Amino acid sequence: MNAAIEPRNLVVNALTVDVEDYFQVWALSPYIPRSQWDETPSRVERNVELILQLLADADAHATFFTLGWIAERFPGLVRRIAAAGHELASHGYSHHKANELDRDAFFADIVLAKTILQDIADTEVLGYRAPSFSINRTNGWAYDCIAQAGYRYSSSVYPIQHDHYGVPDAPRFPHRERDDLLEVPITTMRFFERNWPAGGGGYFRLMPYPVSRWLIQRVNEVEGRPAIFFFHPWELDPDQPRVPGIDAKTRFRHYLNLHQTEHRLRRLLGDFRWDRVDRVFLSPSAAGGQL
Ligand SMILES: [Zn+2]
Repeated sequence: MNAAIEPRNLVVNALTVDVEDYFQVWALSPYIPRSQWDETPSRVERNVELILQLLADADAHATFFTLGWIAERFPGLVRRIAAAGHELASHGYSHHKANELDRDAFFADIVLAKTILQDIADTEVLGYRAPSFSINRTNGWAYDCIAQAGYRYSSSVYPIQHDHYGVPDAPRFPHRERDDLLEVPITTMRFFERNWPAGGGGYFRLMPYPVSRWLIQRVNEVEGRPAIFFFHPWELDPDQPRVPGIDAKTRFRHYLNLHQTEHRLRRLLGDFRWDRVDRVFLSPSAAGGQL
């Protein structure tokens, strides 16, 4: 848990960003209804610009799963993401969980997001991530919709036990949900007969950084697999407006260690090799070796 990562670690991992604003987080939805999104002060542009700078400093590339709602309001930001060489992917349009929508509404949402993103950036969008990792045993039809909408891969499952999301017994590594669709689950590590989060989210802010580093190192060196890691722009923003009246658990989870995230991400970018999901997992020669 202590040694610096040596250059011998040649595995290229996939870094991903879910591009949404702090007030669109599912746990805050009881406090900031959708009808207020347009009047709520936005921080997403400033925060994504910071991420673009961190990636440029580290000479690394990432995949940005971007909400259609955000892309409509910040088209210049979407174009800057693509122009910097990052992969533009879809987080759907409205940020409704997949298991809150019926099949037709879900399909319409993910088609709309793909169309908006592709029109703005003039690039093909291959990847989709469901809000709050909301594809599970109850809505496997979502994969048919994702493929029919023209996506090539999904990254919509975190195979852990969690009160808001997670399918604890889902496969831990990329696998085909259909012949034409790859699912790339967020990285976990297996200990004591259960999966432990190793691919980001609130855990990255909760655990000391060396724990996160050790987990990813084990996935790379013991299991010989690339990791896939995710975070949100608001997690780098200790100055975001505080949402009043929220319950203690949500407050703890949302605001914990925000001031440390930028520094931790810089270390993460320096300690491992990172690239876009399509290059890590989709190409025939990819380290993920899934085709
Ligand atoms: Zn989201």
